Amino acid sequence: MSSAASFAAGQGRVVIDALVATIDENAAMLSEIDGAIGDGDHGINMRKGFLIVRDELARDADLSAGLTLVGETLMTRIGGAMGPLYGSFFIEMGGACAGLERIDAATVGRMLAAGRAVVEDLGEAHVGDKTLLDTLVPASEAYRRSLDASAPFAEALAAMAEAAERGKESTRDLVARVGRASRLGERSRGVLDAGATSCWLLLTALATSMSALLTQEG
Ligand code: ADP
Ligand code: MG
Repeated sequence: MSSAASFAAGQGRVVIDALVATIDENAAMLSEIDGAIGDGDHGINMRKGFLIVRDELARDADLSAGLTLVGETLMTRIGGAMGPLYGSFFIEMGGACAGLERIDAATVGRMLAAGRAVVEDLGEAHVGDKTLLDTLVPASEAYRRSLDASAPFAEALAAMAEAAERGKESTRDLVARVGRASRLGERSRGVLDAGATSCWLLLTALATSMSALLTQEG
């Protein structure tokens, strides 16, 4: 009677390709956003990392292997504050689905929780500080709330993406309290945060690509 949506971990390349594509397509926008209150390198850095991933990703990489490669690449081969933070985020996400044949809604919940926790631990930032956590925290919480309400996998992913967008938009009115932009104080208000924007793009690509892969198993 009960059926649960899931997708094959072996199709993880589709998800990684979606992450690469969204960063590739939006790199100029991300650097422009970073340029308003930072040093303008965020899109360049992220694109550099994701293009390395595109070149080095094994054809048969599953979701865990793909996310781990993203994480290790961002951790060690791009500059900026975001390398270690996003690097750890994706390594934790990959670890949380290691060894699984199929990825279901609960697995993605564990992946998001693990990714969020490591960014909070390493960066020591909080919601309201004008960082990627202003996207990641509400997105992972919206996902968790959907699961707790027994929403289908695709609905939880959509709720996550919507919350990510609202979270990203919330950074416009915030004053940066950590990172390079915090040096500007009140002058950092009025523009989006670059990391919150890239996080929204990545979570949206994750949600869309995973939703497209879902099949029902009874
Ligand atoms: P840099 O500031 O070194 O140039 P990037 O431009 O790659 O690094 O990334 C800037 C982004 O990093 C900011 O937009 C913000 O979202 C994020 N960020 C900076 N410090 C932190 C932190 N401690 N925790 C979470 N995110 C942070
Ligand atoms: Mg920067």
